Amino acid sequence: MTGKKSISSSSQEGRRKCWWAAIFLVLASLAFADSATINRPKREFVLPDGIEIVGESLTFDERPNVPRAVKIREAKVSYDGAQLWRVRPAEEQPVLASDVISEFQDTGLFSLWSGNDTIVDIMVRQEEIPRAARVLKEKNARYDVIIDDLQKAIDEENPPLSPQAMEELEGRKGHRMEWTSYHRVDDIYGYLDFLAETYPGVCSVMTIGNSAEGRPLKVIRISNGKPGVPALWIDGGIHAREWISPAAVTYIIDYLVENSESLEADYYILPVVNPDGYEYTFTSDRLWRKNRRSYSGSYCTGVDLNRNFGYRWGGKGTSKDPCSDIFAGSGAFSEPETNAIKNFFEASAADFKAYLTFHSYGQYFLYPWGYDSRVPPDYADLDRVGQEAAIAMKKADPTAASKYTVGNSATVLYAAAGGSDDWAKAMLKIKYSYTIELRDTGKHGFILPARYIVPTAKEALAAVQVITEACKSV
Ligand SMILES: [Zn+2]
Repeated sequence: MTGKKSISSSSQEGRRKCWWAAIFLVLASLAFADSATINRPKREFVLPDGIEIVGESLTFDERPNVPRAVKIREAKVSYDGAQLWRVRPAEEQPVLASDVISEFQDTGLFSLWSGNDTIVDIMVRQEEIPRAARVLKEKNARYDVIIDDLQKAIDEENPPLSPQAMEELEGRKGHRMEWTSYHRVDDIYGYLDFLAETYPGVCSVMTIGNSAEGRPLKVIRISNGKPGVPALWIDGGIHAREWISPAAVTYIIDYLVENSESLEADYYILPVVNPDGYEYTFTSDRLWRKNRRSYSGSYCTGVDLNRNFGYRWGGKGTSKDPCSDIFAGSGAFSEPETNAIKNFFEASAADFKAYLTFHSYGQYFLYPWGYDSRVPPDYADLDRVGQEAAIAMKKADPTAASKYTVGNSATVLYAAAGGSDDWAKAMLKIKYSYTIELRDTGKHGFILPARYIVPTAKEALAAVQVITEACKSV
């Protein structure tokens, strides 16, 4: 923000930059020292993908000399004793950390969860805690432990429905979707197919492509056939670990279908942009972010799909390193998931006025640009509608009165090029393009307990309603 800069003297700013540079250097050197340490367990607990030895339903009758087939559970990454820390600069001053944040991620010692000008949330593995704490203390950095045992939080996050309850649910409703727990892709797709079969006059499901591992990418269209209405695109689950996103987006689908008679727009909704990564968070690593594409020549897997879109691809806040959490891919739209979205828009004749992509966490309502601290010419409209949405979201759950911060992505958070919102605004010329970071503000981070699904989804729905209203007058 220019205002903020103008009140800062250059020496103050210099000190801040120095502070962050010092922290970065220390973290980088820790990472370097760490990588030289023998027995470093960093990669070891990531087992090869897809260990799945599944019996072929053999029986002793059929193959009496073969031991009973066994099913070995896929081993999971453990976060026993890992912690989430909120780090602040030494003095209580706003700091321009954007240049540093992407570097944090590449050290490998810490995993960046969230950050802006004044605070950075980092995940620290148990074995790194003592040294990390010592180093931060030496630098007078303050930090609070937000989650003191991540694995415990993960274990308590999503109490699953019992198989009986699931069966009962499916028998009663015809699908397994509900919003007291986080659901696997099969449940979500089963729900979409159920809606298309049950309400063929309102819903249709199309597969716009397949993921890297071959899962279909399913878009549901919800329309009551009213002519001349605007179209809205809504997606979720582009970042695998942000479970609240597909949960909220499916809740929105449920509401729109239930209230289809009064709809004044057509909705195209892709609830799980990254089904491979999403499934992987259930089977193997709860904190996986990227897709599951293998790149030859690298032992690391996955592209950050929200760095892979074709506007200013490969710019700030992205990485060329396949091991980075913000690896942008080999080129714009190199990934089947982003390419499918691009092809869909190229083929669609719908009159899109909004492109809403749901993420977590932080409670931000963000508009372009993300690639740099600049804004599009009509940013005042985007800001005004964003503010209206934030007010509606606050009202959606009066007990929580959630505060959503509205602003331009690169300024409110940090620069990140190749995001879908920038592409939708710049290349598709869609007026209201927003990235919405849902709950919370850091108490649980990505591990938002399932009991918060409904209140959070109500906030998301309130935002969609405000945007729909705005789209009518574009
Ligand atoms: Zn995200």
